[in-house]
Amino acid sequence: TLKDGDPLEEHQITVAVRKRPLNKKENSKREVDVITIPKRNTLYVHEPRSKVDLTKYVENQNFWVDYAFDDTCNNEMVYKYTARPLVQTVFEGGMATCFAYGQTGSGKTHTMGGDFLGKNQDCSKGIYAMVAKDVFIYSKNPKYRNLNLQVSASFFEIYGGKVFDLLNNKTKLRVMEDGKNRVQVVGLQERVCEGVEDVLRLINLGSLVRTSGQTTANNQSSRSHAVFQIILRNLDRIEKQGDTAYKLHGKFSLIDLAGNERGADTSSANRQTRMEGAEINKSLLALKECIRALGRRGAHLPFRASKLTQVLRDSFIGEKSKTCMIAMISPGMGCCEHTLNTLRMLSGRD
Ligand code: ADP
Ligand code: MG
Repeated sequence: TLKDGDPLEEHQITVAVRKRPLNKKENSKREVDVITIPKRNTLYVHEPRSKVDLTKYVENQNFWVDYAFDDTCNNEMVYKYTARPLVQTVFEGGMATCFAYGQTGSGKTHTMGGDFLGKNQDCSKGIYAMVAKDVFIYSKNPKYRNLNLQVSASFFEIYGGKVFDLLNNKTKLRVMEDGKNRVQVVGLQERVCEGVEDVLRLINLGSLVRTSGQTTANNQSSRSHAVFQIILRNLDRIEKQGDTAYKLHGKFSLIDLAGNERGADTSSANRQTRMEGAEINKSLLALKECIRALGRRGAHLPFRASKLTQVLRDSFIGEKSKTCMIAMISPGMGCCEHTLNTLRMLSGRD
């Protein structure tokens, strides 16, 4: 379990794992919890060799991360050590990116957006909202106040390699690269926010749009990446006349990734499902390669390999960029394969 202490400093990329509790259904099936977190940065998976005798044939696999959060940690705690240290980065003119990675049902949306089940939505408890809250606190700090920054937000979804605006009825948008190699999502709504309440409204709106018309059987949100961005622009510096007038100061991108178990669907009989599976594989692979290249000087970033990495390109390059990756895992033995896949992605063992 995580003990007190300060978040790590000067990390270009922070890697964390979060284990959710067994849910009601798993408990009623007497599902076995195969994950142990003995220390702040160590995690064991007790992989059963035999499904018949669980106690006798247990094989341990160890993983090391910057932070491992067990099922007693709440969103506040996860936020403190992952996304929160990056708020300063955007005020200092950098780019910050935070990913939620993991299989469907492991807690990505719970962590990022709060909970969005049925009509009871509480987005104030998610990392999106916590970042927003801290952004307004920082903007009033004497250190940054005279920068004259404007806060705005955008929210879009990448599904099947296409971009849809969640703040504008899922309008399909084009992605363009300009002459300076900068990537632009053409026509993406960027709504100015005066305070945290404005941001919460947009998170709610976008999250509703994302999940509307879905049933659990047709869970499109688990097959799409959702990208929520908080953008700081400098009101004293006009870059160009026209729709985007103020110079970009910093940007925080928070991404609720598609479920990484979708790779299995590439063998599905359904053509649509198969194509979605292939698209998700492609984007998660490109993401993995970009992230692994981050720490290596002069490494090639294959950002054009997928729409996801292409639109996030600006966040990956630049000296002041910082990233954190939160891998969500389900504790049950039935999820063991997916859990190991998720953890291997983080550790580079695959
Ligand atoms: P994902 O977005 O990865 O598919 P969700 O965030 O929708 O998964 O989580 C699946 C279910 O598990 C939801 O009902 C959610 O409320 C619950 N859940 C996830 N993580 C936690 C947690 N840390 N504590 C309690 N419940 C959780
Ligand atoms: Mg989700």
